[in-house]
Amino acid sequence: MKITFLGTGSPESHARRASSGYLVEVGTDKILLDCGGGVVSRLIESGRLPSDVTHLFFTHLHTDHMMDYGRLIHAAWDEGRVSMKVIGPAPIASITEKLFGKDGVLSTDLHARTENQGSQEVWLARGGTLPRPWPSPEISEVEPGFYYEGNGWKLTSCSAPHAQPWLTCMAFRIEAEGKSFVYSGDSALSAEVEELCKDADVLLHWCYRMKEETSNTFIASMSPSPDQIGEMAERAGVRQLFITHMRKKTDTEKGRAKALADVKSTFTREAKIAEDLDMVKL
Ligand SMILES: [Zn+2]
Repeated sequence: MKITFLGTGSPESHARRASSGYLVEVGTDKILLDCGGGVVSRLIESGRLPSDVTHLFFTHLHTDHMMDYGRLIHAAWDEGRVSMKVIGPAPIASITEKLFGKDGVLSTDLHARTENQGSQEVWLARGGTLPRPWPSPEISEVEPGFYYEGNGWKLTSCSAPHAQPWLTCMAFRIEAEGKSFVYSGDSALSAEVEELCKDADVLLHWCYRMKEETSNTFIASMSPSPDQIGEMAERAGVRQLFITHMRKKTDTEKGRAKALADVKSTFTREAKIAEDLDMVKL
């Protein structure tokens, strides 16, 4: 299993970090977890193409986890992949229909690309055939606790306390080749997420709040600080911990050093701050 961090940032526009997106490769499957703004560019920078992605899973539908969804599907389609498995919470089906449906926001473009004679000739010259089908992602709407079995890998999930009741939010665990990788999505600490993290080889955990930022008690309760994440990961027996979803304000050399020191104050095994295009092999 190979994991590439494509976007380790937040909703903020930040040159160092795209919004959330992580690619997991097992055998010939390329599994993208979340697709925030900038993730498609990072995917291309990493040497892959949008059409290489076989599965796309969404932890939740905050924009910083899905803003590049339309771009990914359209770009994969342009490269010849008409369908892609897309698995996420509701309303991903209606979002997809609103993007790619007959009257969707991209319908004028899709009519032009498939019906204009010039565009058809370009398509034929690229080895395509007519009539050219529209993008047709294969959507599955799922609830926390769903299970997915791929070719040589499996994904389990649980609810992640974050933006309920507005959004359904999940954490994911992927197991393959005897190894395990957990992605918390955006999540407060919870017994269920901790159970999902049990003995994980790698945990990638959301970290939106630094230890010193504790003025708002609600936000503090929903956003574990680096030391609290480390404490939970230590209890769960995690082998390697990455914190991610870094904000511009604290994403300085000094801020990163402080965050990492706070993680290491409670977590005794290997810990790092995730960076865009970092790769982990398991
Ligand atoms: Zn979120």
